[in-house]
Amino acid sequence: MKIHEYQAKELFRKYKIAVPEGRVITDPAQAKAAAAKLDSLPLVVKAQIHAGGRGKGGGVKLCATPAEVEEAARRIIGMTLVTRQTGNQGRVVKKALIEKGLEISRELYLAMLVDRKNAGIMIMASSAGGINIEETAAKTPEKIISININPLAGIQAYQCRQAAFGLNLAGPVFKQFSTMLPRLYRLFVECDCSLLEINPLVISKDGRLSALDAKLDIDSNSLFRHPDLASFYDENEVDPLEAKAASYKLNYINLGGTIGNMVNGAGLAMATMDIIKQAGAEPANFLDVGGGASTEMVENGFKIILADKNVKGILINIFGGILRCDVLAEGVVQAAGKIGVKVPLVVRMAGTNAEKGRRILAESGLNLITATDLGDAARKIATI
Ligand code: GDP
Ligand code: MN
Repeated sequence: MKIHEYQAKELFRKYKIAVPEGRVITDPAQAKAAAAKLDSLPLVVKAQIHAGGRGKGGGVKLCATPAEVEEAARRIIGMTLVTRQTGNQGRVVKKALIEKGLEISRELYLAMLVDRKNAGIMIMASSAGGINIEETAAKTPEKIISININPLAGIQAYQCRQAAFGLNLAGPVFKQFSTMLPRLYRLFVECDCSLLEINPLVISKDGRLSALDAKLDIDSNSLFRHPDLASFYDENEVDPLEAKAASYKLNYINLGGTIGNMVNGAGLAMATMDIIKQAGAEPANFLDVGGGASTEMVENGFKIILADKNVKGILINIFGGILRCDVLAEGVVQAAGKIGVKVPLVVRMAGTNAEKGRRILAESGLNLITATDLGDAARKIATI
């Protein structure tokens, strides 16, 4: 689960990691009061969306006067911000962070991530931080250093020094960095993060180190033990169909293709997406209705697939085990009755109560195409 910059900075404050002082607003009318409270100039107005590259897209504005702050807030809140991470459709900005501006002397890059290859946590750092880090990574990867932390041993003092030397730090900043890095590591582990990125980590003209930007990704599977972090969830930032699916407790991912599919079991769902592609079409989604799905779950899943405007046809592939084929069929018929299905349906069913399931579908009056096996199903749905 991604969280907003201002939420990540709240966590940073808790772990005593220096961040600029700021206030979040949801309405441009609140800008004046926020600026007055901060009582400092310049101020920075920053769009809060779950995507980077905001600076280049016009979502970050350095303001010299309170009037400029108001103007920037009016422009930013409500704008559709397009960055290299949002896709062409962009993201509508609902909140802005107003922060005390810093006089920047150096911009560094610092990140931590779960490194599967080394089964540990990796620190990445570069003295070439700022808005062009992607270019640095592509053209001069040697400017990015990486350090592997053994999760059993935790971060060691020598590794902090190694990172600090790699960033060419010296004197008081070296010290600040060596104190900050273990705190960040603790945050990373305690909050079950999968990614932490500070770009830029800045050294201000007065020699202080602070996190000017903050990006955190928290492992969604850990949220049951972090109710405080779970409250950071922002439905506005999630694909609307995925948000709806999450509220139904369905495992659904929108993939942008045209062939919707409903499958029981994640492995079978992956195989189904493969054969759809093999047959020359693109899957519109991943949807695992699960082993013990009820009629209601199937109905909800079906509703979500049908709500996707790109869907031209639906492939239902069920291997009846714990989920009986007749239960699935009932769910499909109920959902279809409520919403109306205008696209062709190809059904392949095998296993428990498959005959009964097919009968329910056949008697439903739905426009159905039955398939004898998986390959046949894929070919039929790809040529509709
Ligand atoms: P991103 O583009 O989404 O990564 O947003 P950032 O928070 O990283 O801001 C983009 C850029 O705006 C930074 O790299 C800085 O160069 C600039 N910026 C942000 N805050 C300040 C500030 O307080 N002072 C100055 N001088 N520049 C800032
Ligand atoms: Mn940034």
